[in-house]
Amino acid sequence: MRGLEVLAGNSQAKRRLSAGRGLSHAYILSGPAGSGKRTLAGLLARALVCSGAGEAPCGSCPDCRKALAGIHPDIVSIGEDGKDISVAMVRALRSDAYIRPNEAGRKVYLLPNAHTMNQSAQNALLKLLEEGPPYAAFLLLAENAGAILPTVRSRCESIALSPVTQEEAQAVLAARFPDRSAEELADAARRCEGLIGRGLALLEGGGHTREVQDQARRLAALLLEGPELSALEFCTGLEKWEREDLCALLEETVEQVCAGLGRRWEVRRGMALIGRLEQIRRSLDFHVGAGHVAGWLCAGSFSL
Ligand SMILES: [Zn+2]
Repeated sequence: MRGLEVLAGNSQAKRRLSAGRGLSHAYILSGPAGSGKRTLAGLLARALVCSGAGEAPCGSCPDCRKALAGIHPDIVSIGEDGKDISVAMVRALRSDAYIRPNEAGRKVYLLPNAHTMNQSAQNALLKLLEEGPPYAAFLLLAENAGAILPTVRSRCESIALSPVTQEEAQAVLAARFPDRSAEELADAARRCEGLIGRGLALLEGGGHTREVQDQARRLAALLLEGPELSALEFCTGLEKWEREDLCALLEETVEQVCAGLGRRWEVRRGMALIGRLEQIRRSLDFHVGAGHVAGWLCAGSFSL
């Protein structure tokens, strides 16, 4: 396979993929958010549908071009962010898999949140992995491969992605944002902890607007420095927030606390708060309401 240079670091994973044994029909790509799972999945998807000559993906055939533009009809993404992949969705995927590809030689199913499949959904997928049509290929993405049943894992080639070094991260960020100052790039490379996706998000503002950043800075200071009454007031106000805004605020607050660790804030208390914020952030994935989040944030923060 060629084009692996789009993935930073991860030399072991690259060696395995470039070994030239041909492509597998099912992959599990695991690693923390921002470690390059989607980047690698995109490359694998292109390699699977490529109709050009030589090593795939050629990058210039109609299939590669459509895949790059995100409009290839034979690359199907299943499950949007924030929603579990249900057994009904996997059954629908199964019926779809028996319809032959439209344009490419293969049909590629991308499951960006494969870890959200429950046991029945995974078993339905397993049947397809075992008995599905030979042209069907599957790219399962999960933060932790342990969330995938061993029976499913045994049918897939597993590739684990890891964070890259700070130097590698900085080189990638510098190439993507040539107009940024060395200081800004170094800061993002340090804060992203080897996760390029996070570094890119930091430099792009991360979808976290300046307003969210300001609010997060204020929340971090209130929770760690007080006064308690103002912290309580702020947290109570969060009850009315939308889930997505709350997620962004919690994630950005973690970033802000990290940035001030050992300088503005004592490490032990800062780490305790980060643990608490991450726990609350995760609970939001399970449809916990904003009222509860506000309550937990108030209650837990004073005991740091
Ligand atoms: Zn091609």
